[in-house]
Amino acid sequence: MRAVAVIPGRRGTAHITELAEPALEDVPEGRGVLVRILRVGLDGTDREVNAGDYGAAPEGSDVLVLGHESFGVVEQIGPTVTEFAPGDYVVARVRRGHIDGGTASPYDLLDSPDFTTDTSYFEHGISRVHGFLTERYVEHARYLVQIPPGLREVGVLLEPLSVAEKGIVEAFEIQRRLGFWQPRRAAVLGAGTIGLLAAMVLHNRGLQVTTYGLTPPPYLNSKLIEALGGRYVSTEQTSLADDVAAHGQHDLVLEATGYSPIVFDAMGHLVARNGILVLASVTGGLRHTDIPSDSINLDFVLGNKVMFGTVNAGRAHFEEGVRDMALIEARQPGWLARLLTNRVEGLDRYDEALGLLTNPDVIKAYVEIGR
Ligand code: BGC
Ligand code: ZN
Repeated sequence: MRAVAVIPGRRGTAHITELAEPALEDVPEGRGVLVRILRVGLDGTDREVNAGDYGAAPEGSDVLVLGHESFGVVEQIGPTVTEFAPGDYVVARVRRGHIDGGTASPYDLLDSPDFTTDTSYFEHGISRVHGFLTERYVEHARYLVQIPPGLREVGVLLEPLSVAEKGIVEAFEIQRRLGFWQPRRAAVLGAGTIGLLAAMVLHNRGLQVTTYGLTPPPYLNSKLIEALGGRYVSTEQTSLADDVAAHGQHDLVLEATGYSPIVFDAMGHLVARNGILVLASVTGGLRHTDIPSDSINLDFVLGNKVMFGTVNAGRAHFEEGVRDMALIEARQPGWLARLLTNRVEGLDRYDEALGLLTNPDVIKAYVEIGR
């Protein structure tokens, strides 16, 4: 079968390659599920992997099949699989436990490989396991999440949504430290896919959401925020400090811009007393910045504030994502589908799909692989 692969560590090597058909027997104890891939979404990580900045091939392979945002349909199940049946729609989790018989992390044993402390981990399409820009895959049932048929058209958004969900679920979990925490105001930095999905989740949880983006409104992303009843603020027109002086600080702030200096601006201005700041941007660069460290530190100390980082997601976060998708579809049918701005037909057009990743008018580009 065909696949789109890169040579990790080298710039611009995406190409079509031939891959052996996966077999149910590849997974032990009859727990394999054979999935036919329908759609794969692309994001900045795919661009970085194809730029050679990020990514590693599986052991014994020179290439890495790209793509970690999957959506597919079950074709066959192993003899001991009870939770899926042929015809079910599924999304695969990205982070994997050890697959090489190496020493499992305790977090693997808890089925939380997203919390591993290992420096070299396994992520489909990113690190040491092939991705989904191909025709079929076989995976352990543990790593698949069921998508109800009513979410078929938007299921490919579940993986990026799971990243936002983990950040928000963890924030609530951490804030149990307070005994009483009733967040009312939330801020999201960044109006890309993760930022938009985070705003949706916070809106579903009843928070008033302000999204800070660079681009002056109106444009599709700001309209999507306003359609949720949220505020959109362009930081080119209004600084974080000015906006907060006029409208107040936020109980929960989620950063997803990919621009690290804004983290310190957010620490210094956005977070209310007892508030929490979630960092979700994977910033691979070498940027340096000057910050008013005394005042930021004092503010965090005297305000009992929290800041934490979050990466990837576990099963519970994917499942919470499915519920949030169902809820927003019920509240505002069609809102999610508006994020799917660019569809590319077929694996052959991978170059066009990757090219869309630098276009600011694109929210989510995806490759349509099967029907
Ligand atoms: C993926 C995550 C992954 C992260 C770091 C993101 O693009 O969506 O699943 O953990 O990159 O590799
Ligand atoms: Zn991603």
